[in-house]
Amino acid sequence: MAKMGLRGRLFFSHLLVMLIGVTSLVIIGKISSPRFFVSRLEQLDGPGFRLQYIRTRLIEGFEIAWNRSTFWSVLAGTTAAVGLSYWLTQRITQPLTQMDKITQKLAEGDWSERMSPSDIPELNQLAISFNQMAASLQNVEKERRELISDLTHELRTPLTVVRGYLEEIADGHIEPSSEIYQQLAKETKRLERLVNDLQELSKVESGYLPIHQKPVNLYSLLESLVQRFSDQLLEDGPILLLDSQPNLPWVLADIDRTEQILVNLLGNAIRYTETGTITVRTSHDFNFLWVAVIDTGIGISPEDLPHVFERFWRADRSRSRHSGGTGIGLAITRRLVELQGGKITVSSHLNKGSTFKFSLPLAL
Ligand code: ADP
Repeated sequence: MAKMGLRGRLFFSHLLVMLIGVTSLVIIGKISSPRFFVSRLEQLDGPGFRLQYIRTRLIEGFEIAWNRSTFWSVLAGTTAAVGLSYWLTQRITQPLTQMDKITQKLAEGDWSERMSPSDIPELNQLAISFNQMAASLQNVEKERRELISDLTHELRTPLTVVRGYLEEIADGHIEPSSEIYQQLAKETKRLERLVNDLQELSKVESGYLPIHQKPVNLYSLLESLVQRFSDQLLEDGPILLLDSQPNLPWVLADIDRTEQILVNLLGNAIRYTETGTITVRTSHDFNFLWVAVIDTGIGISPEDLPHVFERFWRADRSRSRHSGGTGIGLAITRRLVELQGGKITVSSHLNKGSTFKFSLPLAL
């Protein structure tokens, strides 16, 4: 036997309930009504009130009347119940059928359709959750496409340069020299950095990066990083300063990830600051410790500022490409801050300098 759908099942279960109700009503009515009627007649049958002669006809009349009224009420009741049951079944199954159709469309890559609201609260909640899921899937799909297009763009340039040089050398158009090999090595290094950054980005974005937060005092980390970066700075370059008290309030942080954040921010500050100072400054409010990396470098223009945390974004593509930047560092940094429950902000003035500031929750 073919399997009955939800609509059929609901409809037949309603019918069954109705049939049982009507049958028991008719049977009980049929058995008990004449008895009650007869006993009522017996009570009336007293002195001066003789029913003896018309009793049989009265009972017959009652039965005919009862049968007729039961027939019509069963007919009207059943029709109303069937109609109501059909309407109710329709209302419950319609959103489910719609969901099935939309799911199939989603699977085929058509993201345009969404569930319409339902006036049954549970089904409405299901429709809302379904729409949220569809929206987030659509977003993932959009990001995936953007990532692939960005990635192709980023990979194409170094690959074209490398292939160009190799072909020229193979054809004998240019003599292989140490500069050319250096150029080739630089481009392959860029590719390598791109792949490493991407791996890191995919880890932080997919949430697979384990974060082990525990209460720490960040001062010694800040001190050792400032020391380490100061040693790398050139004589005529900027100077690195730490503006923080040693007894900082404790924060809930993953020390390795926090180091990664600071290395990214300090690395950028050094890359984009020729002279002046780079200051690491701490402050705190009721819930967060804020760490700011303040530089006096080239700055970022107001129209570029909203994009700095986007992956692959660079203020000046050719210049940053020259300096080896991939535009992924700040995207990773932001995710690392967010994964620890903090926020990151940026303010900047062109040719004056930039301030990147991130927060970490205080360990209460
Ligand atoms: P990159 O690897 O290119 O440095 P990031 O994501 O770290 O990638 O930075 C993105 C872009 O933001 C950089 O290319 C640069 O244009 C800009 N930027 C980041 N930090 C600074 C800074 N301290 N001063 C000026 N510009 C900056």
